[in-house]
Formats: sequence, structure tokens, C-alpha cells
Amino acid sequence: MKIRVDLDLCQGHSVCIDEAPEVFSVEDQVDDYPKVKVLNFQPSAELQNQVRLAARYCPNKVITLIEDNE
Ligand code: SF4
Repeated sequence: MKIRVDLDLCQGHSVCIDEAPEVFSVEDQVDDYPKVKVLNFQPSAELQNQVRLAARYCPNKVITLIEDNE
């Protein structure tokens, strides 16, 4: 699995951190919403279900996942 994020869409809701705190962080910005920071772009198998939940529940649909079989 690989992770892509569209930072233009991110508004710092932090749902992603609630679901997968080992994979996502959120950083404050000077003149904008806080933005997600991906800590691990290729999460291990144990973390992938958390990452899928983060992508599903992100209110702005910022997170795109490329599964290994795609
Ligand atoms: S990726 Fe989604 S849930 Fe995470 S901070 Fe950005 S908008 Fe919020």
C-alpha cells in the first residue's frame, strides 16, 4: 500500500490521527488550516486497516490509497 494526500483539500480535522496515529500527524500552518503530514508512506500490514479507516472517514477525502494489487 502507498499513501497519497492532496494537501490543498486538507483542513486539519485530525480524524486521520484518531484512526492511524502512527501514520499521520497534523502540523500547524502560518496562514492556512493545519495540514496532514504523512509519517509513513508505505505502512506495514498491521497498520493498513487503520489507514483505510483514516481514508474513509477523512471529511475532505484527502487521502488516496494505492493498494499493492492495483
Ligand atoms: S487528512 Fe483529512 S482527516 Fe486528516 S487532517 Fe486532513 S482533512 Fe483532516
